[in-house]
Amino acid sequence: MSRPIQATIHTSALRHNLQRSRQAAADAKVWAVVKANAYGHGIERVFEGLRAADGFALLDLSEAERVRALGWRGPILLLEGVFEQRDLELCSRLDLWHVVHCQEQIDMLAVHKTHVPHRVFLKMNSGMNRLGFRPEHYRAAWTRLNALPQVDEISLITHFSNADDALGIARQVAAFNAATEDLPGERSLSNSAAILRHMGAKPHPGLVSDWVRPGVVQYGSAPDFPEHSAADWDLQPAMSLRSRIVGVQSLQAGDTVGYGSIFTAPQPMRIGVVACGYADGYMRSSHGTVQQGTPVLVDGVRTRTVGRVSMDLITVDLTPVPQAGFGSEVTLWGRAANGALLSIDEVAQAGGTVGYELMCALAPRVPVVVD
Ligand SMILES: *Cc1c(COP(=O)(O)O)cnc(C)c1O
Repeated sequence: MSRPIQATIHTSALRHNLQRSRQAAADAKVWAVVKANAYGHGIERVFEGLRAADGFALLDLSEAERVRALGWRGPILLLEGVFEQRDLELCSRLDLWHVVHCQEQIDMLAVHKTHVPHRVFLKMNSGMNRLGFRPEHYRAAWTRLNALPQVDEISLITHFSNADDALGIARQVAAFNAATEDLPGERSLSNSAAILRHMGAKPHPGLVSDWVRPGVVQYGSAPDFPEHSAADWDLQPAMSLRSRIVGVQSLQAGDTVGYGSIFTAPQPMRIGVVACGYADGYMRSSHGTVQQGTPVLVDGVRTRTVGRVSMDLITVDLTPVPQAGFGSEVTLWGRAANGALLSIDEVAQAGGTVGYELMCALAPRVPVVVD
């Protein structure tokens, strides 16, 4: 038998989570954001669950080719636009819509030879200071683009830096609206956090997003954890990472566990050794102490890691599951066979990171199935 670790992608959860964005942003069209290989889930594996979206948004041209290869004829948006001149040829050939965020990209378009003009999304830097034209330069960029025969429709796009926290989106919405007031074209502003927190039940005044861009929310992670959990937002995990116990140790009080001996048994206890390690994408940084550890489910019962995470193995406390032993199911995140849930957000938090990073880090050596 092969090593028992396996990730499962849940098509029904993807469908459900996509529907949550549709509910919150009732009249908007939805870009399913599938960059970074669908946040680690695999573009081909999530396609069925997300095909009810209005378009797919991503970064890499190779990923755009993969979406076309799946038979998708609808819109595809390159969220960072092109990186070099010849990328525009692929945009023409595959009918890709692309973001334009700097003068260099307009220069490339101006010398691009194409029979069919491109649909572009002109990006404003409304305060995040990553990509885009500052509000005071936006109109000039729009005018220059609009004069190019290579350009068809121009849509207006910006990205929020604080949609998930108390600072919110007011300043950026105001900056965007002021600079685009009389410009025609569809608007695209909201990411996952803005869809859930600033559309839906309590719509932010002045926020218009004809196209919303849900990313992490599609995969069942709460963008504003721990303020809200996935359950609070009625999201379902799109990935479960499960393995099995491949060894058991019975410890005496005072015995230590694993590299660095960072865990000492306070009393006699059984621990399970699980086929999962940092080479599978499980984070190594974890509290791993007697008080905390990282939560895991064994046979669907909640317990925690003890000791350091190593390359191929972790060790878990079996005290709450005395019947568990060799071969018992271990859920690192997602849904256990008995239906119990462990959110990736909680696991990530114990490792000092976020659900985004953990799902993107799933290692290529982990076999993945779709259900
Ligand atoms: C990644 C990304 C998104 C999706 O962000 P989430 O927080 O995962 O919803 C939306 N827009 C842009 C421009 C992005 O790069």
